[in-house]
Amino acid sequence: MLNIVLFGPPGAGKGTQSEKLIAEYHLVHLSTGDIFRANIKGETELGKLAKSYMDKGELVPDQVTIQMLELEVVKHSGPKGFIFDGFPRTTAQAQALDAFLASRNTGISCMLALEVDEEELKKRLLLRGKDSGRADDQNPEIIANRIAVYQRDTAPLKSYYEQQGKYRGVQGVGSIDEIFASLCNQINSL
Ligand code: ADP
Repeated sequence: MLNIVLFGPPGAGKGTQSEKLIAEYHLVHLSTGDIFRANIKGETELGKLAKSYMDKGELVPDQVTIQMLELEVVKHSGPKGFIFDGFPRTTAQAQALDAFLASRNTGISCMLALEVDEEELKKRLLLRGKDSGRADDQNPEIIANRIAVYQRDTAPLKSYYEQQGKYRGVQGVGSIDEIFASLCNQINSL
């Protein structure tokens, strides 16, 4: 299986590139942010819980997020692989994902990281807030908190995957097609 962790700070372009990657490699796209938003829309218990964290730019607790992700993975029978988008976001999530995939006789092929500087991220998120109406993209303080949470909890995952020899960084600034080509180069050289 080809199991990719697509990594990068909020606004790095993970959603955009995921769509192109799933089409190219016939993978299943699992975005924890999208799944939470679908639950919020459907007014489920999980949605209510997730919203209370997302509105502040905080992470949804690990236990809830991990369980939700595992339930999504098992829904798919015989996939070529998965793109994990927005997951894992903490070391505990990464460890749980490794253990879970190992129990299914598979594992992570690589982490593809979109590298984008902070000024560019803030610009993109505010722009997306205008277009998408996502509440967490409209308030500069919440955006700053998401980036701070990213630096504190999520950025350490770079070394987690580096230690496994699985980290592949890609320049996340440029045209969508250029960035996509760089990601494909990394995958094709695995
Ligand atoms: P972005 O990458 O732009 O922050 P996402 O759609 O991936 O957007 O996530 C939106 C919000 O959903 C996050 O700020 C967080 O509150 C919650 N979330 C998404 N994925 C996770 C995760 N793996 N663990 C905890 N919270 C998550």
